Amino acid sequence: MRKNIVAGNWKMNTTLQDGQALISEIVNMVQDEATNSSVEVVVCPPFPFLSAIGKQLPQGGRFHLGAQNCHQKESGAYTGEVSAKMLQSVGVEYVILGHSERRQYFHEDDELLSQKLKAALAAGLKPIFCVGESLETREADETFNFISKQLKDGLFHLSNEEFDQVVIAYEPIWAIGTGKTATSQQAQEVHAFIREQIARAYDAEAALNTSILYGGSANAQNARELFSQLDVDGGLIGGASLKSRDFTEIIKSF
Ligand code: 13P
Repeated sequence: MRKNIVAGNWKMNTTLQDGQALISEIVNMVQDEATNSSVEVVVCPPFPFLSAIGKQLPQGGRFHLGAQNCHQKESGAYTGEVSAKMLQSVGVEYVILGHSERRQYFHEDDELLSQKLKAALAAGLKPIFCVGESLETREADETFNFISKQLKDGLFHLSNEEFDQVVIAYEPIWAIGTGKTATSQQAQEVHAFIREQIARAYDAEAALNTSILYGGSANAQNARELFSQLDVDGGLIGGASLKSRDFTEIIKSF
């Protein structure tokens, strides 16, 4: 079902203590200030803090716990890895997959991401699947071809029922952590394109029901303008999710 979602991707930041202080401030601010309660808030801290941060989230409401990655296998001799089932067992509901940092630094390709998606869905997690082009691709006018291939090769192998569980995040690589946000028109154009691709791969209903989030230097100043676009259903926030005031303002931007 299409929902407005603001997700905070903490990446490899904070200690347990800093993370606990941060989430406690966010929960208080969001509850105290008049925010639109239909907006879901997904918090994605690093693996070791998931349990503790999850316990600080008010249960049964708008707050949800997310992870930043999972392994493709259910269990076994994979030293240092974390399975989707493990995440589910500590209260995780969402998992970010295909983030450009995972694709770039950990060489995650479409084949591997397909397996991770299957594993996440089998464990009952909702994937937040990321796509996005580099500056080079954009300047070569290849953005649409590139995004369409990422969707086809990484995501559209899912069945209709599986796809129903998926949230998509459009994160142009040139906008991540650079302070250079896509304009609301640039975001809208790609979001509309993604929705059109979903309609082709599945059907119009699936396209209408999919939440598509924007990520890349989204902040308290530009969120309102981005979220006002027809096909932008929320944000996947990096840097600004580490500041309670900024993250709360972003949640209030709907
Ligand atoms: P920034 O908001 O820091 O640009 O990061 C975006 C991102 O990668 C979220 O997943």
